[in-house]
Order: sequence, then C-alpha cells, then structure tokens
Amino acid sequence: MATDKPTRTPFDDAKDQLRKAQEILGFSDGQYEMLATPRREMAVAIPIRRDDGSTEVLHGYRVQHNFSRGPAKGGIRFAPQVDLEEVRALAMWMSWKCALLGLPYGGAKGGVTIDPSKYSQAELERVMRRYTSEILPIIGPEKDIPAPDVGTSEQHMAWMMDTYSQSVGYTVPGVCTGKPVELGGSLGRAESTSLGVFFMVKAALKKLGINMEGATGTVQGFGKVGRGAAAFMARAGIKVVAISDVYGAVRNDEGIDIEALGKHVDETGKVVGFSGATEMDPADVLLLDVDVVVPAAIESVITAANAEKVKAPIVVEGANGPTDFAGDAILVKNGKLVVPDILANSGGVLVSYYEWVQSRDNFFWDLKRVQENQEIRMMKAWKEVDEYAAKKQIPLRVAATVLSVERVLHAHQMRGLYP
Ligand code: GLU
Repeated sequence: MATDKPTRTPFDDAKDQLRKAQEILGFSDGQYEMLATPRREMAVAIPIRRDDGSTEVLHGYRVQHNFSRGPAKGGIRFAPQVDLEEVRALAMWMSWKCALLGLPYGGAKGGVTIDPSKYSQAELERVMRRYTSEILPIIGPEKDIPAPDVGTSEQHMAWMMDTYSQSVGYTVPGVCTGKPVELGGSLGRAESTSLGVFFMVKAALKKLGINMEGATGTVQGFGKVGRGAAAFMARAGIKVVAISDVYGAVRNDEGIDIEALGKHVDETGKVVGFSGATEMDPADVLLLDVDVVVPAAIESVITAANAEKVKAPIVVEGANGPTDFAGDAILVKNGKLVVPDILANSGGVLVSYYEWVQSRDNFFWDLKRVQENQEIRMMKAWKEVDEYAAKKQIPLRVAATVLSVERVLHAHQMRGLYP
C-alpha cells in the first residue's frame, strides 16, 4: 500500500496485512477503516525525579485497538524506539492474537520511550508508577489489562498493580498480568511465551518432516522469549548453534550449552565473552544454514535488505513483527515456512488469560494444568491456521490474520454499530 510518509512504520506493515485479509474476506472499505483505526489512544507525559534531584519528562502511550470481543489486552514496552506508530501496530497485532487464540479480549499496547539501561531501579519504579497513574482512567480488569513486554518484567507489573490498588483503595490483582506468583501471578506465565514458541518450532519441523533430534537452529534475542525458547529447543535435542543479544552474538556449531550461556549472561549481562562459543556478527544469526531461525527480539529485522539471504526453511517469529511486509513477500516467494508472530508468540497472552481468570477467581492452578491447557489451545490454533492455509493455498501469516480478523469483524457485526 502506498504511503505518503517518508519511511514506513510497523503500523504501515500491520495495515498492509489487514488489507490482505480484506482481499480474501471481501469486507467493505468502511469496515477496513474501522479495523485499521484504534478505538482509543492516550499519549502521556511522565515527569520523573532522577536520583541526582533533577527532573526529566518522558513520553508514554497506551493504544486500545479494539474492544469487540472483550476488554483490551496487551503488554507495556520500555524501549528507546517506542513511538505512537509502533504502539499502534503492536496493539492491532494483539487484537488479532487474542482472537486467534479464542480469548475474550480485544487488543492494546503501551510503551514508554526510554532506554532502561540508563536508569536506576528506583528511577524505573518512579517511571512505572507515574505512567500507571497517568493511564489509570483507561485501565482496569474490565477495561484494559496490561502485561510485560520488551524492557518490562514481573517487578514492573507488581508496581503497576500496587499503584492501581493504592488509587482505588483495595488490592486488584486482575488489573495486569505477568505479576510475580506471590502477588496473584500464574505458574508457567514466565516461560509461557518461550514454551509456545517451542511448540511452534516442533510443529513446523514435523510439518516439513525434519527430525527434532539433531535439527539445527538459531535464536535472535536472549531476553524473556529468546532465552527460554533456546532452552526448550536444546532440551528437545535441537542444536542451537548461534544466539545474539543487543550487544553481539556467539556461535558453536556443536550446539551452545544454553544453561551455561544463561549463567554467563546473568554474571556479565551479555552473550559475548562466553567461553563455550566464538563471537560472530549478530547480523548473520538469522542467515545461517540451519533448519529453523527464531527472531525473538524486536520488529523489522527481516526486511528487503536481508530476506533473500535467509537460508533456513523455517522462521518462527518469537518477537512481534520481526518480518516486515517486504521481507515477508521475499520469504514467501522463496517457499519459507513462516510461523507468524500472532500464533508463534501467543503463549504469553494465553497464559496471561489464565492468570487473569485465576486472579479473579482467587483459585490457583498447578503448573501441569497451565501448561497442558496452553499446549492444547496453541496446537488447536496451529491446526486451524495450517488447515485454512492449505485449503486457501495461502501462507500461514495470511491465514492467521484472516481467521482473526474474521472473528473480530463477526463480533462487531453481532454487537452492531453504536448508535
Ligand atoms: N507482551 C506480550 C505479547 O506481546 C504479552 C501480552 C499479554 O500477556 O497481555 O503478546
């Protein structure tokens, strides 16, 4: 789709994906506009006191893309590149992701433009609490339920839950998910996105007839998603031969010892310098000749500039939006099997849903129940997407988007356009 902006944003990609769904489903341009336009957007200033006594004003956002199927749901990102366009794209993808998994939610996303590595823990607490109090009028267990994302953790959710609870005067665990287990979090939430990525790696390998034992893979990102995904893959016998983080990348063709690398990262903060591997150019991690690559960091890392060089037959998107629209067209042309983000990384919001249910019931599940339910629901979604893609002869991403958009549209049609 043509755009008059000088550079394309992730939101342009998200809207182009929606156009593709429109071509297949044949809904009207008015309905396209309705789905392409977030229902509500909030931009807030976040004035904070630095530890040296000075004052600084940060910028934050919360975008609620859709409510047709239920309250809005989606994470909060603390990262330097956060802007309204990025948050809009991420919010739209949350609507599709929740619908694809059959969750009773719409989609939302939030973010603060900040490089968290430059702030102390006490400063980050002030940022999170002030951001929460600024967006407080539009969040709540029945309205919009935040969760962690890039740059935020269980601790941020504990601060958010406390700030909200202090304001209303009683403890409200259901206001956000991804909380510490002691505060109403769910067992299995911390590793849920990684486990889901692993289920999709397993399903994709099986589809292409590749044995998991001895298969090879690489992972971009060693944060909440990448680290766990690499560990689950290695445990299942997949040789993870290269891993990168924001600082660099390491390689070992015999398979990296993920547990040992994790210890090294806990001690030093980065993957480089790990004695069990050699350093490599992080730009090449997704381009190695392996069976599966897992981009699990940020958006737009597979683009027209490098997609032609992707050799792996399988790409499993642990991150949100790691393949941009042009990059995706190249992967499809080259016959790659791409498990799209809204399916591949949906384990996080799925277990967030289980957490929200547990928080509201005050009845907590054991880990087995959480993970069995996660596997059943994700494999059901995989089967639906895979079968629909085969029936319509379309890529998995298009199939997943079409199935999700159809559900959101159907919910909207049943409710009707107010007034
Ligand atoms: N931030 C995660 C995602 O992008 C989880 C969202 C949630 O649990 O609400 O899917």
